[in-house]
Amino acid sequence: MTGDLDADQLGRTLVHEHVFTGLPGLELDGRLQLDADSAVERAASWLTAAAGHGVGTVVDATPMNWYRRPDLMRRISERSGVAVVASTGLYTERMGWPFHLKLLRATELADVFTREIEHGMAGTDVRAGMIKIATGQESVGKYERRAIEAAVLAQQRTGAGILTHNEGPTGALQQLEAFTDAGADLSRVLIGYCDNSTAAEYHREIAERGAHVGFDRVGHYTITPDGPRHEAILALLGTHPDRVLLSHDAVAASLGEFFSTEEDPRWEEFGFTLLRQRVAVARELLETTDLPVEQIAGRCGFGSGAGLRRHFTDAVGVSPRSYRSTFRGP
Ligand SMILES: [Zn+2]
Repeated sequence: MTGDLDADQLGRTLVHEHVFTGLPGLELDGRLQLDADSAVERAASWLTAAAGHGVGTVVDATPMNWYRRPDLMRRISERSGVAVVASTGLYTERMGWPFHLKLLRATELADVFTREIEHGMAGTDVRAGMIKIATGQESVGKYERRAIEAAVLAQQRTGAGILTHNEGPTGALQQLEAFTDAGADLSRVLIGYCDNSTAAEYHREIAERGAHVGFDRVGHYTITPDGPRHEAILALLGTHPDRVLLSHDAVAASLGEFFSTEEDPRWEEFGFTLLRQRVAVARELLETTDLPVEQIAGRCGFGSGAGLRRHFTDAVGVSPRSYRSTFRGP
């Protein structure tokens, strides 16, 4: 994001987050006006908080066919002092690929990825350091397979890492097949979202094939509760401690949270999902800890106690304070 870093300068690294992102096509919705300064400030405050826990580097896994803003990501990194590694690469074909990219052969697509790594992304001189690959649930699609071939070529040329998004309980194994077919060095591939499943043998198989296993949705209670996730992580640490990578797939700031229209917020399913998760975590912390509301707000990604109180009261119907006293008794 702000230049090359040696591996020993990275520090503690979160391997799959989003410092700034947005759904594909949000930029086409003229009702949305991005308040870039607020977005940068908000995301930088998240990264600063992460730095307080020893985090030195965050990998942003937003691919090129999402609303990706290298210029803002660089500002967020500079403002927080946390290194940010941006991604080239593509999201699932189900979510839609730009038609031009569908016309490209794997070698041409590899040229596109390579250019983003060597010269810069989206018309900027901000270079990517990671290649994101995403495949859908039933099987690896035709274009997704091509993206995998292109990612492997671009990795061979540049040395950039590959990280993935997989879906469903066997998505990781399908990806491993496709990467093997493409001649990948699996030791340089992070299979992400392995915590879609909590089956220890599934994780062991991925590690045994040589890939890194991403438990990268820590805190996403709606997908997998942290308890079983924690047990699965411990199980794999017992056999393959060098294959385990952790992250949250959190979004520090996105277009959609920083928009000017408030007439009909239903369009923003993405933001709602996030908000629901944050409220769910807040609820659990109110039930199980004595943390003050301000601290809970920080942990759940609300900018302030006031933000938490407002969203919590909207969603649950009572304030955090009365929720806690009702739950625990006076
Ligand atoms: Zn993600």
